[in-house]
Amino acid sequence: MHLFLKNPSFSQCAKCGKPVKSHHACPFCGHYRGKEAVDVFSRLDRKQRRDRESEIAAQTAVKETKTSESEAVN
Ligand SMILES: [Zn+2]
Repeated sequence: MHLFLKNPSFSQCAKCGKPVKSHHACPFCGHYRGKEAVDVFSRLDRKQRRDRESEIAAQTAVKETKTSESEAVN
């Protein structure tokens, strides 16, 4: 059993794929239920912001090629 992955109080961010507490905005990208709920980038300096944006873009690209496959992987 993979209890961490199956933990119902956590889900996966639809945008960046990070684990997110259910009913909370993603702490990594601020995404929640189809929109930017939290401006996480305002707390970062320019370099951190750019790094995070590129990581999110990479995650999005991976998600698009894999579709929903990642949810089925144990
Ligand atoms: Zn996210």
